Amino acid sequence: MSLPQLDGRLTSLGVDGRWKMDVVYAYPQEEALKIVAWRTRREGKALWLLAGIHGEEPAGPNAIIRSLKSLSALADLGVPIVLIAMCNPKAYRSNWRYPNTPERDWRKGGYSVGDAEYLLPDLAGGQAPRAASPVGPEARALTSYALRLSESYPPRLVLDLHEDELSMEGGYIYSQGQQSIDNPAGEKIIRLLQSSGIPLRLSGKTRFGEPVQNGVVSRDEKGLPIRDGSIDELFASTQVFKNKKLIPGPSAQTVIVVETPAFSGSNLDKRVGAQSAILNAIEELWTLSP
Ligand SMILES: [Zn+2]
Repeated sequence: MSLPQLDGRLTSLGVDGRWKMDVVYAYPQEEALKIVAWRTRREGKALWLLAGIHGEEPAGPNAIIRSLKSLSALADLGVPIVLIAMCNPKAYRSNWRYPNTPERDWRKGGYSVGDAEYLLPDLAGGQAPRAASPVGPEARALTSYALRLSESYPPRLVLDLHEDELSMEGGYIYSQGQQSIDNPAGEKIIRLLQSSGIPLRLSGKTRFGEPVQNGVVSRDEKGLPIRDGSIDELFASTQVFKNKKLIPGPSAQTVIVVETPAFSGSNLDKRVGAQSAILNAIEELWTLSP
């Protein structure tokens, strides 16, 4: 689905006034190109749903469009929701990974719109931010929005929909947050991915050396909590930096990053179906992550 089609479908959320739209970031040279968040008028402990952080991973944003009914139904039950279905529109429309370069390899200068290292404690003693400043204007806007909105919509369940185009063996999920180990929502998501028919990697290691257990990565290669500097770590973090001062972080209960396998030759429709299966079970996933 093209960017304008996607925007158009999301706009349908606004028709009856139950959802509000925030412009998280608009490109100064091209104001129609923007990162947009939709949130329910009702505030409180919330479902956060993100997709499209990496522009060349189309399954998540397309699955959200396909599953808007399930999300609206959850909102109708009174569950607060913040939805950022297209976190990196500039890269999506060009099938790039990063917003600033066609290079897929981050060592060649690309930065992630979800990079939150300037808000996260460093890995030495946690007394200073991990990075002096945001990596780019979109990253600053997106991560500071997430942190600010986490005050009125504290994240209870966070789903961040990704794909792994280098994984030949299959999909998997990352589990972070207060309940990163044996998380029932994570286990349910693995069962949903399995029944959708996409290949899954149930054991072994990711290409970053992280152990996979029953499809779930909950520790890094050293057995420590995952510290990838991403917006997902930000949601999970118990401490963050704001104006150079350490303050309590969003401390989400459950943060799941879904990685569907997107190696060349894999079937996009099937990957969208797999991600949609997760979203269509959103009510159960919500109750599984109290
Ligand atoms: Zn990704």
